[in-house]
Amino acid sequence: MSRYWSPVVHELTPYVPGEQPKLANLVKLNTNENPYGPSPKVLEALRAEAADTLRLYPDPSGEKLKQAVADFYGVTPRQVFVGNGSDEVLGHTFLALLKHDLPLLFPDITYSFYPVYCGLYGIASRQLPLTESFEICVDDYFQPNGGIIFPNPNAPTGRLLALGEIERLLQANRDSVVVIDEAYIDFGGESAVALVDRYPQLLVIHTLSKSRSLAGLRVGYAIGHPDLIEALDRVKDSFNSYPLDRFALAGGAAAVADRAYFAETCAKVIATRTHLVADLEALGFEVLPSAANFVFARHPAHEGAALTAKLRERSIIVRHFKNPVRIAPFLRITVGTDAQCAALVAALREILS
Ligand SMILES: *Cc1c(COP(=O)(O)O)cnc(C)c1O
Repeated sequence: MSRYWSPVVHELTPYVPGEQPKLANLVKLNTNENPYGPSPKVLEALRAEAADTLRLYPDPSGEKLKQAVADFYGVTPRQVFVGNGSDEVLGHTFLALLKHDLPLLFPDITYSFYPVYCGLYGIASRQLPLTESFEICVDDYFQPNGGIIFPNPNAPTGRLLALGEIERLLQANRDSVVVIDEAYIDFGGESAVALVDRYPQLLVIHTLSKSRSLAGLRVGYAIGHPDLIEALDRVKDSFNSYPLDRFALAGGAAAVADRAYFAETCAKVIATRTHLVADLEALGFEVLPSAANFVFARHPAHEGAALTAKLRERSIIVRHFKNPVRIAPFLRITVGTDAQCAALVAALREILS
């Protein structure tokens, strides 16, 4: 009963995750999961963890996973923080690095968890509108702030900001932390991890949920200056010392180490995306340029909500956002397998005819 709630709970506006329907035989293109399973080496590592050692706590600092991430990016383990999905890494980042007197800046159209963390932690924020073409204009961020955060590529637009623009932002903004949420960077962008040694205010956050096919395992990480990592560790060790269990630590390390499988599945998703965009354009959709494993598309003659509902009647689930109204005409469609995308295009052709 709500009279037992802490006062703060009444004021919360929680994040609403994309639906995970229990129905079978759905073409599920709504939450940007990878259509391909994880690396066989991950499954092998998970099986090896199903052992008597589960009675013991996992490594609280996740050294093996940190080392695997550090090896992949050519950084040191002291520059790496690991967490229970990047949502947890983001949550700790908001409290540890982005709560200041000046407002945190982020785009008006972006990952909808950011305003939720601001609400949870009482962080002042200012949302800066994307341009007409749904791009981030870096010059808008040249103003006093308590921090800056955005995804690159942005979500749910899929649009990529060039690394040179991020560097220009870092050069102009040295007194507060700049967080780049690279959940989708492996599907067509250049990572800002290349800049962490030169910019101590830069934190880059990644997830294994998308490009490593491990949304079910809950592993994310951040890369940045050891001072930023220490702030995250202080929050983590004030909240949960063991956020990653033995499976997550072993499976995560195996996923990051299997570079060949990662390269192969990312390339397959990118190739499918190219076909999907061409097919959607042939049906009259306007598709924003995507560097992610999803596309953001609108049809000039049909509403986003209506198209989403009609696809659903045909057991195809895509994501639709009512707010802000500027994006209400759009569908956010995850890039699935070639067969799933063909089913989507066939259904849309039928709906439009
Ligand atoms: C999917 C996503 C995340 C969350 O990833 P998890 O690691 O599964 O928590 C974070 N940021 C953005 C922009 C995402 O799209």
